[in-house]
Amino acid sequence: MSRLLIIGCGGVAGVAIAKCCQRSDVFTEICIASRTKSKCDAVKEKLQGTTSTVITTAQVNADSKEELVALINSYKPQAVLNLALPYQDLTIMDACLETKVDYIDTANYEPEDTGEPVWRKEYEKRCKEKGFTAYFDYSYQWAYDKKFKDAGITALLGTGFDPGVTSVFTAYAKKHYFDEIHYVDILDCNGGDHGYPFATNFNPEINLREVSANGSYWENGHWVETKPMEIKREFDFAQVGKKDMYLLHHEEIESLAKNYPEIKRIRFFMTFGQSYLTHMNCLENVGMLSTEPVMYEGKEIVPIQFLKALLPDPASLGPRTVGKTNIGCIFTGIKDGKEKSIYIYNVCDHQECYKEVGSQAVSYTTGVPAMIGASLVLQGIWKKPGVYNVEEFDPDPYMDALNKYGLPWVVDENPALVE
Ligand code: NDP
Repeated sequence: MSRLLIIGCGGVAGVAIAKCCQRSDVFTEICIASRTKSKCDAVKEKLQGTTSTVITTAQVNADSKEELVALINSYKPQAVLNLALPYQDLTIMDACLETKVDYIDTANYEPEDTGEPVWRKEYEKRCKEKGFTAYFDYSYQWAYDKKFKDAGITALLGTGFDPGVTSVFTAYAKKHYFDEIHYVDILDCNGGDHGYPFATNFNPEINLREVSANGSYWENGHWVETKPMEIKREFDFAQVGKKDMYLLHHEEIESLAKNYPEIKRIRFFMTFGQSYLTHMNCLENVGMLSTEPVMYEGKEIVPIQFLKALLPDPASLGPRTVGKTNIGCIFTGIKDGKEKSIYIYNVCDHQECYKEVGSQAVSYTTGVPAMIGASLVLQGIWKKPGVYNVEEFDPDPYMDALNKYGLPWVVDENPALVE
């Protein structure tokens, strides 16, 4: 019998929960706990009767360690799957430590208030020392390693698609195709169309912060930083076609650079249409992406949070989104003294996802790997005391599960390369 506590009940959680319910053999009981309990109850209502997984729900403020500890102590799960926002990573890890329960997430820590003086000072020091200016980095969560080891519990970081599947693709490429990997290009293409002039495919605040920030890539042991959208390439994606893609900073670059010091360069590209970029630039220019509170008619509002209230809810894009995503990695390295390249990728169809679980492919491609990571921890297959990124475990059971549970992958042994 296993019991999983899932925190958060948004787009990604909706898929992960539906997928857990398809695997009642592993997930015998789940509790969905979030800020807004009515959303958890609605998901439970939809799924119970279709599954033998026993579903309960709870209200929790995941910014409060005390509330989390009380919930964990009363529900007594074996693991907590954090599908709230990156802002809650540390309080949830603290609660897991106190209750000695395994921890799993899909995104690394980022503070909600990037103007907070203590955090800001630390951040500015890190920018100078490390050479990239993204608000998120792994240092906060990696710092829990000893505490998790001492407590005898596992933290599995970043089991979404990117990070997550892209990192497992790297471990798989290294295990089965290369003696040494020298170059990695991670390509994230969303060829879907939702019909709105502007909407984000996942949480708008997290998405717009990421995309409007400086880009960076890892080369020869250090970070090279670029202006936002400075590096553009065109790529012909299987089952999608030619798309413009732009270099972004992305969190798996940091962990892959640490775990594979042999890699000379790691870049991350994401596709964007011109309409998306024009809207984003305009919103940024007028200050709507700011996280600094402003006073409006006697009330403090945070511009990006106000914008979130105006934009379509990502969870509502499912029925209207058509087209496919194609996400994967091109690896170049050495096998038996010869240079070679391979491309491992998955293609996912928005409407197929909607038919299966009622969500578009961006939530689907994150929710399925979240379920897989949680299942491997719960089954003890990926379990050792400490804090780990997904590429630090054996990739084979994860790759098998991707094929089985909705994200089949392809290996192209003669790929086009990115200039
Ligand atoms: P959503 O905004 O759709 O959902 C977030 C959920 O967390 C909501 O249910 C929200 O509650 C809840 N929540 C927020 N704050 C709190 C809090 N203080 N206490 C309790 N619950 C809270 O986000 P997504 O589903 O799109 O994303 C979920 C996570 O997945 C994010 O961390 C995101 O960065 C990550 N992600 C990872 C990807 C990857 O490939 N690795 C790709 C896409 C996303 P409420 O309903 O009340 O607002």
